[in-house]
Amino acid sequence: MEILKLVDPEIAEAIENEMKRQQNNLEMIASENFASKAVMEAQGSVLTNKYAEGYPGKRYYGGCEFVDVVEDLARERAKKLFGAEHVNVQPHSGAQANTAVYFSALNVGDKVMGMNLAHGGHLTHGSPVNISGKYFNFIPYGVSKETGYIDYDELEALAEEHKPRMIVAGASAYPRIIDFSRIGQIAKKVGAYLMVDMAHIAGLVAAGLHPNPVPVSDFVTTTTHKTLRGPRGGMILCKQEYAQSIDKAVFPGIQGGPLMHVIAAKAVCFKEAGTEEFRKYQEQVVKNAKALAKALMERGYNLVSGGTDNHLMLVDLRNKNLTGVAAEKLLDEVGITVNKNAIPYDPEKPNVTSGIRIGTPALTSRGMKEAEMEEIAELIDITLTHRDDEIKKAKVAKAVRALCERFPLYANMR
Ligand code: PLP
Repeated sequence: MEILKLVDPEIAEAIENEMKRQQNNLEMIASENFASKAVMEAQGSVLTNKYAEGYPGKRYYGGCEFVDVVEDLARERAKKLFGAEHVNVQPHSGAQANTAVYFSALNVGDKVMGMNLAHGGHLTHGSPVNISGKYFNFIPYGVSKETGYIDYDELEALAEEHKPRMIVAGASAYPRIIDFSRIGQIAKKVGAYLMVDMAHIAGLVAAGLHPNPVPVSDFVTTTTHKTLRGPRGGMILCKQEYAQSIDKAVFPGIQGGPLMHVIAAKAVCFKEAGTEEFRKYQEQVVKNAKALAKALMERGYNLVSGGTDNHLMLVDLRNKNLTGVAAEKLLDEVGITVNKNAIPYDPEKPNVTSGIRIGTPALTSRGMKEAEMEEIAELIDITLTHRDDEIKKAKVAKAVRALCERFPLYANMR
């Protein structure tokens, strides 16, 4: 950052402060991670200078021979990693990937089923404040009030009643394995497309720790920056028969020039995700989530669905007389970063909530294991139980700092 410091000291200082924040806090937001240095190097490269509208071999600009190599590698690696027939690596984000699929396969006003945002779905799965909910007629499905698991029978009944043109599966805050093959059968039965948004679990899928939606779906979208641990961005995987319409929907449909530096970083991420080291990392992510869930439950915390199968858990704080917003703030004070999150059938407003969502991908990238999860559960519990005890909270903050120092950022990553 020597040059940046000279040219723009204000931005350089903000970046340095953010780096310190990442180093000194326990990052437990389930959708965040630490991309490798190799990924960041590719992203910070001269490829940011290049316009490359179009696709490899069919660009609207000259001088694309090297960015073509990059995009071809990204596409081939992603195809191999997930067993897909066709891949588009150009979406700037997960939201863009989802929007492109909708505009390639649907007509404005079509009926679509998506997981209820309040039950763990995502804004882009039909929320009225998102383009998906404004342009398409979304019918929400959700989880059972008793078990916290997706209610597949209800989903099937709704699909039979509404005969949607598409069913969207996937979630932002669902701690269990999703039965894509069952949803695929329901979609087939009612003549709907199946689109799976695997943004949260893409890393687990790449490592073979969650069923792969690609074989049973028409379209699969993902972000590349969550469990997959790449640069911030999106991607679409689909059957060959949809390749042309998906590519057209991304460019020129909803985007202009691709971010070639980000596509290079995606390619690096896909290479990393195919390694044994990455598989072991994902295994540890899941082990850590299970250890943390167990340790929290032992301390009297209720988890939605009673635990986790993946990288995240949803803590229902109602028996602790605490809202999600209050818990998020208390944990922030001691250096533990989580986000407030609605629990299914939440009586609180979306900006208050009764829960917090906690994930293990980022801490696992730092090298933390089950023993540290146990320690963190204790620190969370002390903070939330002794919420007005400044001395206890100061002790927790010190312990958080010590833990962070024991696991320096990027110490065990290239
Ligand atoms: N889909 C799911 C399931 C997500 O959780 C998210 C992000 O949180 C997105 C899509 C949107 O991704 P982005 O923020 O890159 O637009």
